[in-house]
Amino acid sequence: MPSGVSSPRSARGSQTTWLTERPARVRGALRVGGLTPLSTTDWPGELCAVVFCQGCPWRCGYCHNPGLLPARGRRRIHWDDVCAFLSRRRGLLDGVVFSGGEPLAQGGLADAIADVRRIGFRVGLHTGGAYPRRLAQVLPQVDWVGFDVKALFDDYALVTGVSGSGDAALESARALIASGVDCEFRTTVHPRQLPPATLVRIADRLVEMGVRRYALQQFRSTGCATPAFMGDGLRSRLEEPWVAAIAHNFESFSLRLA
Ligand code: SF4
Repeated sequence: MPSGVSSPRSARGSQTTWLTERPARVRGALRVGGLTPLSTTDWPGELCAVVFCQGCPWRCGYCHNPGLLPARGRRRIHWDDVCAFLSRRRGLLDGVVFSGGEPLAQGGLADAIADVRRIGFRVGLHTGGAYPRRLAQVLPQVDWVGFDVKALFDDYALVTGVSGSGDAALESARALIASGVDCEFRTTVHPRQLPPATLVRIADRLVEMGVRRYALQQFRSTGCATPAFMGDGLRSRLEEPWVAAIAHNFESFSLRLA
């Protein structure tokens, strides 16, 4: 990894590898800020590579990949190199997950998904739902979606720092549920923003909407650039009975401790 550059981190695990740095040769090609060659955690039940897309319109205080937030990062992995790497992994991986940042922030995502399918992999997508129309366009080409639920939809700006973000997320969540694409909804829990009573209300709303798989993910301080969000005391709160009360409403529920 080049000095002075933060490595993107997968949602729950593996360290990410930087490949080469070259200017893009193809206008509109996906801007990639990192690549995890093998992950067992970013797509439950699948062995996958994770492509970290550059850019995100939101500014969550607990974000652990701040280097991916600008539309153009200081370092870049050429999309052709990602495709060449994936071609050498045929038979060794089940699929490829596009993560971020927010993958749908880039208009080139649909073409990148098509490239990955041509190489022969199934496709997973991590999204917060900031771009409902783009999500609707790519859903027919996606096998699984990990959808981040930041807060109650009316309160999204408290977490994302962006007004209107809850409206976009709600529209995206509805489109995902209606599509029937395999998916998991999940919420990152930081006690400053999401006390237990709020988490119970979020879970109730998701059940009403028809969500069947849900996960609570404990905030991890690794990579977080917001000093005020550091601290401890969260583990005990996530082990309290209210977690069980949430869990029993879903067909599948996971609790991911840091
Ligand atoms: S949506 Fe994800 S990538 Fe964007 S700021 Fe929030 S945590 Fe970071």
